[in-house]
Order: sequence, then structure tokens, then C-alpha cells
Amino acid sequence: MALKGAEIMKKLPKTNCKECGYATCFAFAMKLATGGAKLEDCPYLPPEVKAELEAAMAPPIKLVTIGTGENALVIGEEEVMFRHEKTFFHEPGIAILISDKESDSHIEEKIKSIRELDFERIGQKLKINLLALSFESGEKAKFEALVKKAYETTDLALILISENTDVLFSAATLCADRKPLVYPITKENIGSAIPKLKELRTPAGVKGESIEEIVSVASDLKDAGVEEIILDPGSKNMLEGIKDQTLIRRAALKKGFRPLGYPTIAFPCYMYEDKFKELLAAAALMTKYAGIVVISQVDRKFLFPLLVQRFNIFSDPRRPMTVEEKVYEISKPNEYSPILISTNYALDFFIVSGAIEEANIPAYLCIKDTGGIGVMAAWTSGKFNGEAIADFFKKYGVENKVKHRKLIIPGVAKKLKDELEEELPDWEIIFGPIEGSDIPKFLAEGWKE
Ligand code: SF4
Repeated sequence: MALKGAEIMKKLPKTNCKECGYATCFAFAMKLATGGAKLEDCPYLPPEVKAELEAAMAPPIKLVTIGTGENALVIGEEEVMFRHEKTFFHEPGIAILISDKESDSHIEEKIKSIRELDFERIGQKLKINLLALSFESGEKAKFEALVKKAYETTDLALILISENTDVLFSAATLCADRKPLVYPITKENIGSAIPKLKELRTPAGVKGESIEEIVSVASDLKDAGVEEIILDPGSKNMLEGIKDQTLIRRAALKKGFRPLGYPTIAFPCYMYEDKFKELLAAAALMTKYAGIVVISQVDRKFLFPLLVQRFNIFSDPRRPMTVEEKVYEISKPNEYSPILISTNYALDFFIVSGAIEEANIPAYLCIKDTGGIGVMAAWTSGKFNGEAIADFFKKYGVENKVKHRKLIIPGVAKKLKDELEEELPDWEIIFGPIEGSDIPKFLAEGWKE
């Protein structure tokens, strides 16, 4: 939000007619400035003032969508330079590069590997977002065949890469309803590209040899009515990339410089032949501040750390990750199975449930809603004390699930044992291990049906 309430106020009619639902124009202006009201709510704004305010209040980095449906990649509208200032909102897309020079079997193998990726972390699916299809064969028919194959065999968003605009837009026509990113739009081809971009209504990937060059091309596209733009400053290596990406983000957020107010793309796949250097560049550029990184590898060992890093950076630091409060039945427990209890902090849940699965001993895992905070903090705040757990037992009828009376509590919650012995006098309270990794051994040695 670029404008302050007082600046918006200067543009309002100042009649205090209340039709917007606010007592005064000033109150409406203040609400607009914080995003709590819409310009449409004031019926007395002249169209030119409304347009001026809309432009001034637009997010400093435009939201751009590539692809359609549930696999569409939505990037942009970031508000901060550093995650701890608020949060990052839209995680960057990871694209896998496929050249039309690769053999059919290699292409099919790559697509199959991407489709079969099934990484999960803290209940979230980690996935590849895009295929970046590159025209390198010199044969238009070959490139079109690759585009058709990617379009027909996956639902992923597509990036089409060709210096030849005829080939680029012919291919874009084949998959226009998938809303592909067409790349590169440069100072050389912008004239012929604009009519096609407007006809296909698809995002444009702007490439320049410098920041100045992309400013010029992006401004010309915007003036021509092309709204969805992705910027590539043409960085040749990781350090150059970090410098360029940071400059673009800073210019958009701190200076409100609109020609650089778009998401960006980076190509670690073209920066390094060594795959670990490529991985390092992708990780660094995702952190600062690429909206899309294009990589060449589909190796699971290569992708997993990259996907986890993205997940960690783009989770919201203001909200703990939680899971639902309930009694989870792991591996079909029966009336002799162990009962464990923990908080609904997502990381705790996935560590403990994973360890129980690893032990291969069916169990009930009671998960108490603590607002997503871990065991000790939840105990201190009264959300995971003896009384709260006794209430949980009543609510979910835990004692009806088993014939024994043994409850395993987290090993760190020393004082909880005394409280539970008072609140649940029929139960034997047992400390579980302090480390989640010791749970399988603990269950295997200590729990015999
Ligand atoms: Fe002011 Fe417009 Fe609201 Fe009336 S409707 S009070 S003119 S902002």
C-alpha cells in the first residue's frame, strides 16, 4: 500500500455523506490505507481520481499467474525484504528445463519423474510447479511436439523458451488455454511480440542484458497494455543474480519504482554445469528473491533439499503450523495398544507420528490443541497441563478405547506427571523419550501387547 491515509484524504470529496459506510471521508481514507475498504464503496469519486488512486495504491510488486487451475503458479505481491519483517506470501515456482534436443525417452523419463515426486513435509505436499520447454533443435516441428507432449501429459504450468518469435508464439498458441509464460521478450522482438501477447493474453518473460534494459522493455509492454510481466535481468552467475534480484526487489518496495514492480525469473540451469553449484544458486536465488528458478535436474536427492528450503522460507513466521486436535489411530490400534499424548504443533506431531509408524507398533496418538505451541510453552501457559489433558480425555472418551491404564507423555514434561497423577488417578503416567528419534526403540522395548 503506497499511499498513507492523509494522502488519500486529499483526493476524496470531503462531504462526509456516510454512503461508504463510514462516518467521515477521513475515516474512509484511513480504512482504505490499511486495505480494509474498497474505492468502489465511495460512489462520488470522479473516474480519473479513482484511476489515479487505484494506480497509487496498487501493490508494489504485481501479482502474476502462470498456468491455470490448481496447478497455476501465482507469484508477486511481496511486501517485505526480509521474512521476519512480516512474511513472504507467494512461494517461488521451481521449473524443470527440458530441451527439444533431448531424446523422446529422456523427455518421457523426466516428465515421469516429476509426476511421481511425492515429497511431504509437515502435512504439506512439496512439488515442482513448471516445465520450462526450450527450443534448441532448430526444428519448429520438434519444439511443437515437445510442447504438445508436456501439455497433454501433465497439468503443470509451462514456460516456453525461444529466441525465434515465430516458433515461440506458434507454440504458445498450442497451449494458450494453459496460460504459458512466453520468454524471452527483448528490445529486439518486442514490436512483433506485443500483438501476439495481447491476442493470447498470456504472461511475458522480459529479458535484458542489464536492469536498465528490462526497465525499458517492461515499460513499453505496460504502455501497450500487457499487464502480466516477469523480469529476467540476465544474471550470469549466483552473485550477479543475488545483486540483480535484490536491486529489483528494493527498487519496487522501497522506491515504489513501478517498471521493476514485477516478479522475477532466474536460470541457475544456465549458470553452472556442476549440478551442486546449480543447486546452490537455485537455493540462494529462491531466497533472494526470484519468483521462478529454472533448474535442469530431476534427481530426487537434488530436489528434496530445494523443496524443503522453499517450504521453510515461505511458511508464515507469524503463525505456528498446527494439526487438528483429535485422537489419531496409527496402524490400526486395538484395546491393548499404547496411548501417547502431545501438542498440535505440526512439527511435533509429524515427528512423533512418524516415529510410531517406524516402530511398527499400532498406537493411539492424542493430539491436544495448544494453538500450535510446543510442549513446554503450552504447559507454562496452561494449555497442556493436567487439567487440560483430563478434559481432553473426557471429550474424546480416551479411557473407552483401551483396557489398560498407561499414558505415555513427552519426556520433557517433568512436572506434568504430578498433575496428571492427580487429575487421572487411575492412570499410570509414563515418561516417553525426550528425543523423537528414540520413540521406536522405547516402544519396541517397553510395550509388549
Ligand atoms: Fe466521503 Fe465518499 Fe464516504 Fe461520502 S461516500 S463519506 S464522499 S468517502
